[in-house]
Amino acid sequence: MEKEEKYLLQNYGRFPVVIEKGLGSKVYDLEGKEYIDMTSGIGVSSLGHSNKDIIYALETQMNKVIHTSNLFYNSSYINLGEKLVKMSKMNKVFFSNSGAEANEAAIKAARKYSSEKYGQGRYNIITLKQSFHGRTMATLSATGQDKYHKHFDPFTPGFIYAELNNIDEFKSLVDETVCAVMMEAVQGEGGIYPMEETYAKQVCDICNKKDILVIFDEVQCGNGRCGALFAYETLGVKPDIVTTAKGLGAGMPIGAALFNEKTENVLGKGDHGSTFGGNPMATASALVVLEKLSSEGFYEEVIAKGDYIRDKIISFNSPLVKEIRGKGLMLGIELNIEVKDIIKNAIDNGVLFLSAGPKVIRMLPPLVIEYEEIDQALDVLKSLLLN
Ligand SMILES: *Cc1c(COP(=O)(O)O)cnc(C)c1O
Repeated sequence: MEKEEKYLLQNYGRFPVVIEKGLGSKVYDLEGKEYIDMTSGIGVSSLGHSNKDIIYALETQMNKVIHTSNLFYNSSYINLGEKLVKMSKMNKVFFSNSGAEANEAAIKAARKYSSEKYGQGRYNIITLKQSFHGRTMATLSATGQDKYHKHFDPFTPGFIYAELNNIDEFKSLVDETVCAVMMEAVQGEGGIYPMEETYAKQVCDICNKKDILVIFDEVQCGNGRCGALFAYETLGVKPDIVTTAKGLGAGMPIGAALFNEKTENVLGKGDHGSTFGGNPMATASALVVLEKLSSEGFYEEVIAKGDYIRDKIISFNSPLVKEIRGKGLMLGIELNIEVKDIIKNAIDNGVLFLSAGPKVIRMLPPLVIEYEEIDQALDVLKSLLLN
């Protein structure tokens, strides 16, 4: 930790735990102390730690080729592309290395679609207040939270913020300068706020009528996290562009932007690219994730575990719990107090939780977490909430 402070940019607020290894939904520190991992990174290690099938896929790929440039073909990214397109019922996919980069691709595609079809001036993208879309300059602009906007201006122009689930405000913001909307079906960093089905349908209706592109940012809520491949599916809507990352690679860095029949040809040769995007290792890992997600009953299990956690927390009857929000295994427990100390105490007691804002405990456990592990984690939470 001292070396870290000496040599590494101090841009992260870390907990004083050195994670040495992981197995399933448990991680271990240098002294061998065990922790139940209710974070899976930040929704990344979707199949848990040291998953045998992931290791096998990576070893196999590693022994063939670790990197090829995008000047050549390779079967690893093609196999993943086929699987992801078929499962999502979208038309084409672009691979990046992260969520922010997937969103950059979506933003570029939306602007180009509009400028080719309608000419200049139709470039605004409506995003939501409390949203999070990444840390690059454009995705920071897209992020509707002031706390990320200090000190870094001038920002990429062309983003307008609307309040989640407020259809009247949305209508008032739509004009001839708007080319797209970008939103999370369940807001993650902003505090675990799910989008209402009627709102989603009304927004998509308005957008379809006006040829405004609908982009769903599924970086956090996608990849099975909410009990469906993508969380927007639970709202009965169909986007023109979908972005994802986090849980897609089970720990390997990968992002993806998916395009439908309307947007699949917008970005052409030379319009966009990435040196590492679609690399053989990350795509080999992601293929294993998609195979697991498509196995019989996988999503039902995610939903059942989410309900189990929710019911158990309700049964604590803790006066500190204000509201439980979320879908599947993406859960936010809003308290009447700040959660900082509870999260610290949970770590001391061998459980890792996330927060989402000052008063929300966020849970994004591995999708394969076992009931026994959930029980262990919630026993600790219970003692802290009833203390
Ligand atoms: C984490 C996140 C991003 C950014 O992803 P990175 O891989 O960190 O660039 C974008 N959108 C949402 C909804 C996220 O949760």
